[in-house]
Amino acid sequence: MFLLTTLLASVFLTGCLSQITEGFENGWDQTEWPIYTGGCNQGGTVALDTSTANSGSHSMKVTPGAAGYCGHVFFGTTKVPSSDVYVRVYLKASKALTQNHISFIIMPDSSQGSNKHLRIGGQDSVLTYNRESDDAVLPDLSSQGVATSLPLSAGSWQCFEYHVSPDGTIETWLDSNVIPGLTIRAGVANSHASIWGKSYRPKVTGVYFGWEAYGGNTNTLWFDDIAISSSRAGCLGKSAA
Ligand code: CA
Repeated sequence: MFLLTTLLASVFLTGCLSQITEGFENGWDQTEWPIYTGGCNQGGTVALDTSTANSGSHSMKVTPGAAGYCGHVFFGTTKVPSSDVYVRVYLKASKALTQNHISFIIMPDSSQGSNKHLRIGGQDSVLTYNRESDDAVLPDLSSQGVATSLPLSAGSWQCFEYHVSPDGTIETWLDSNVIPGLTIRAGVANSHASIWGKSYRPKVTGVYFGWEAYGGNTNTLWFDDIAISSSRAGCLGKSAA
């Protein structure tokens, strides 16, 4: 009986370790969710906030500092699965995306070299991926490419999900809807991924949530109900299927 109990406990713990879920209702554990600034920080701040929340009464608020790259700031974790990485996050942006290029999630990606990131954010007013090493963007920013992505709503919580795999697969959902232009998957055509290419094999070693701008604009963002795991968690109260 003891052996069985130990085995079950072991299986349970292993399962738990493969998934992180955090709604910040017990506060902000800065050891588990440290600030990340990549070397420069001109006044950007991260704070536990009670002015708005997707769940409960707490979320994380990211306030940019100076307009420009070093006004960036992020918080996040390196405790990510070693193979397929699925992330769900609820986010609320005080302002809509603009023409300017920004990121709200960055991931150190050893496939691009040291201190280079796979970035998720926006450009031309819609959601985009960006590869720091060569500045490739997904989808391409033709008017047809932009039409295959989606904007973010201003001032409301939205469920953003993505999947990045070392086999090159990328999948992205907003409020459970597939974003075709942000999908790279075997058997699924994406005619606006030629700049992104077919040889990229991301190897992400962390996930950080925040704000970084390459065109000088600023936006305050809130994050809540983060799930990071090796399979899709889905939006709260909804099946991931
Ligand atoms: Ca919460």
